[in-house]
Amino acid sequence: MIKPYLYFPKPTAGHHFSDYLTCPLRAWLHYYGNPKDQVDDPAYLKALFHEGLNYEREIYAEYYPDAFKVPAIKDKAKREEITIDAMRDGIPIILQGYLYGEDNVGVLDFLELICETQKSSTGFLYRVGEIKSSARLYTSQILQAYWYTELLLKVQNCKINEVNFITKGQGQQIIQLDNFDNEFFLIKQALFALRESHSPPEPYLVQNCKSCHWRGICMKELIESKHISLIPGISKTRAKILKTLGVHNWKDLSKVPNKLLKETGFLPYEIKQIQHSIKCLENNKPPLHYPLKNDVFNRSCVTVLEFPHLAAQREAGLLPTPTKIYYETDRNKIAVINIIKDGEKLTADLSPLTNGQKLVFYGSTDSGAFFRLGRENGYKFRNYFDLFDLVDKFVHVPTPGIELDVLLGYITNAHYDNLTSEERVRAIREVIHWISRSI
Ligand code: SF4
Repeated sequence: MIKPYLYFPKPTAGHHFSDYLTCPLRAWLHYYGNPKDQVDDPAYLKALFHEGLNYEREIYAEYYPDAFKVPAIKDKAKREEITIDAMRDGIPIILQGYLYGEDNVGVLDFLELICETQKSSTGFLYRVGEIKSSARLYTSQILQAYWYTELLLKVQNCKINEVNFITKGQGQQIIQLDNFDNEFFLIKQALFALRESHSPPEPYLVQNCKSCHWRGICMKELIESKHISLIPGISKTRAKILKTLGVHNWKDLSKVPNKLLKETGFLPYEIKQIQHSIKCLENNKPPLHYPLKNDVFNRSCVTVLEFPHLAAQREAGLLPTPTKIYYETDRNKIAVINIIKDGEKLTADLSPLTNGQKLVFYGSTDSGAFFRLGRENGYKFRNYFDLFDLVDKFVHVPTPGIELDVLLGYITNAHYDNLTSEERVRAIREVIHWISRSI
């Protein structure tokens, strides 16, 4: 049973809006949870995070090289004071502005001076600016900026109805906030109610669980309670209806006659899928969101790239450079191709991988680097897929993550860390066997 760890909830921050849209429990845990219960970000999210930071740095350097930056000091009152002093001085651009109160907090990418006016209590009017490394804008990002604008209103006592977003490839976009009034006020109200409540919403297995910080505690609870959400395709609304029929978990669901499921609104193909998923759960196989073709893994050849300096290269914003390729041969052995680095150019003999086998990668770091290498060396590959994407889209299990070592640990009930390249090849094959059992 998930319980509050903190007696007094944390203040509402911008991220609570996207948390709430993803899963209300996530927002609640960010108010009341024990920070030590949070698990690390999976590698692909860490990579995205670094990408975001690098992009923010690039934008600061390109657009605002001489702007004033509020230092990220621990003393919150001092940090806010520095921000407000800069606003009173009418500094044109203020980076990393900090505004907080007992119940709320916000770190603003940049504050832009709009004009000098006596209407504002600081004598100047500022607008919120946000930098996003995504190519498109999401509603959650706009709601977050709306929240910052509300915090700003408390300081300058003057509402400004727009936000300046800088997104990747799209340049600057001015968004009118009144187009989002309804969503913002509804979610803000829901968040405030959540913050008042010591009882958490129920965990529910959703796509985002795989990358959520709180999956360490939620997955355990979902497995122990044989939660109904472990069956793919059962929405929260349907789960509520099933509860009124006395169905509280997937074991209860297995006893419901088809006729009753039909009367509850399930279509024949959905009933079939539910039955298949229950059988999978009973036999320790992974339920799938959609059926997979029987031949999906035929002639597959697991291919793994070795990156000895991956973490450092990512942190420095450099492209990851592989040094070796490990691949399965048709004799069920693992062979190696060396990659030679000559200045910036990488060379490798990829001909052993051009025999029509279906190359299987795990994650875009491997596949991206492999295809770059292929292009630079004059090879074309058409027969391949990324098993990470397939697991993400098709497999519905309460795993603490879909990083290869984590997933292997879930499948084999053991712990793995720092797999070698050869172990990665075997681990990917193990994942293929595991999924094949559900086809
Ligand atoms: S792990 Fe899943 S259920 Fe738990 S808070 Fe995160 S998204 Fe919600």
